[in-house]
Amino acid sequence: MKFNTAYCISLDDKLSIYDVRDLNFDETVDFDSAKERFQCPNDNCRTAFDAANGLGTFNAKNVNYIRTPHFKNLPGTRHIEGCAYVSLRTPASEGAETDDGPEEHFPSELLLTRRQYVRKPSTPMPDVDAPRNQPKPSATTSTTEHPTRDTAPDKTSVFAHPVECFVSNFDDKDLLKRMPLKIGEHTASYGSFFKKIEYLQDNKGLIYWGKIKAIKDYNTSFRIDFEKKVWFDKKPYSVNVYLSKNLIENYRKRKAFLEEIKSAIGSERELYCFFYGVTPELKHVPSKKNPEQTFGVFSGDIENLDHFIIREVPGLEG
Ligand SMILES: [Zn+2]
Repeated sequence: MKFNTAYCISLDDKLSIYDVRDLNFDETVDFDSAKERFQCPNDNCRTAFDAANGLGTFNAKNVNYIRTPHFKNLPGTRHIEGCAYVSLRTPASEGAETDDGPEEHFPSELLLTRRQYVRKPSTPMPDVDAPRNQPKPSATTSTTEHPTRDTAPDKTSVFAHPVECFVSNFDDKDLLKRMPLKIGEHTASYGSFFKKIEYLQDNKGLIYWGKIKAIKDYNTSFRIDFEKKVWFDKKPYSVNVYLSKNLIENYRKRKAFLEEIKSAIGSERELYCFFYGVTPELKHVPSKKNPEQTFGVFSGDIENLDHFIIREVPGLEG
């Protein structure tokens, strides 16, 4: 059983596994999924058991993952009767990995504003010396109903989530054509929102992706070169995107990002790059060999590292 979300006790909120990964790598928050406790997202089921009845995570902390991350039942996890998350695993198959399928939970929207998490204040210890007439801390703080926010399970602010949906269901073209994705004002099916880099002229503002040819490490930036070329005026042009090192230095997930890009440089693995937020455009840059001459290249500067991913995609044809 794959869970679309799980309840995180310390945040008093439901998170997707992609939210969990984002928090794990975020150096500005104190969060480690290995120390957090997760429970069934079905409120009736969760409250029927104590905090020890938890869920496990898969690929929550691995920077370079291949298999789809998810929450999973632990061998002892219990659910109430009728809970949709009851494991279908029979005792005979116990221990076998049965959750190794594609991502089934397609977010219908990628929110461009990052989700904020507020940690639940720990239960205050009773202070025996406190004067009796001291006003109690407002009891409403912990019981306030969460207003309906834009964090419904079908929306995400983590780019890796729709990318995983696309990548892990790549062979199911009908499904990708059927599932809608909204980013900003633009809505399209997953199949058309993800655009091969060589066809970037078809439409602006999409998620572009393609196989990486090389990654160059310069003084102030990294350059990602794509294998495929863009045809314009009957001529082929190279495509690349630049990542400013200054942007990376100030990134809240700096360490994980550097790990991702450094393991990609010089890697023998076939790697793909996905990005949103910039459409590379034809530019004329001076030639190194002959500075009087210029050559054309489709190029763009990545502005938000939250919407940029380098990853392995087994079985995907660039
Ligand atoms: Zn349950």
